[in-house]
Amino acid sequence: MLISRRTLCVGTSALTLASTLSIPKLARATAPFAQPPLPYDQGALSPVISATTVGLHYGKHHSAYFKNLNSLVLGTQYETLPLEEVVKATASSNGATSKIFNNAAQAWNHNLYWEQFTPGGDDRPSGRVSSELESTFGGWDGFVKEALTTSDNVFGTGWVWLTRGDEGQLKLVGYEDANNPMVFGKPAYLGIDLWEHAYYLDYTNRKADHIRATLEKIVNWNIVAKRMGV
Ligand code: MN
Repeated sequence: MLISRRTLCVGTSALTLASTLSIPKLARATAPFAQPPLPYDQGALSPVISATTVGLHYGKHHSAYFKNLNSLVLGTQYETLPLEEVVKATASSNGATSKIFNNAAQAWNHNLYWEQFTPGGDDRPSGRVSSELESTFGGWDGFVKEALTTSDNVFGTGWVWLTRGDEGQLKLVGYEDANNPMVFGKPAYLGIDLWEHAYYLDYTNRKADHIRATLEKIVNWNIVAKRMGV
């Protein structure tokens, strides 16, 4: 009985001590990157993007990129870097860090994605955003048309991004998979997710309808203006 009690006491003390010592380090090490909260209700973008799609896209896909990233960077040099730095540092590696890049970039891409929408819809862009769309694409219709053409040129999964070209003008680019303008030293003003998980439940194969509705109804152009610094 005495031996049992002593063993139990030692065991408990050791366990308590270990827990006390390791909790802060463990908490930091297991989740260096946190998914930002969705800035509106799950159903707030409906009917352009349904509550079901947002639930899966934000709650499963985006969440999984963070979960995978946190697991992949554990014990690496990337563990303590800001998310942007992880994306940039792993972008051009020859495959060695491609898993980290894919998850870090997708985590970052979707942070921008959710932030740029507004519940209940928004008007067309105004001010400097509008005038730049006018001078680059010939106006709103030209911008939407160019966005659809750009998305068609991405064969598989990927993104359409509003960014700037080398001359400083606005530019729409299409990148496959997780790639984004930041990788090429360019700003990301607006990102349209072309992965099927973004639209298939709501639009099946009508990807163009999804992109058009997204651009016309739920983009928060004030956020885009803020990203452009205007
Ligand atoms: Mn996505």
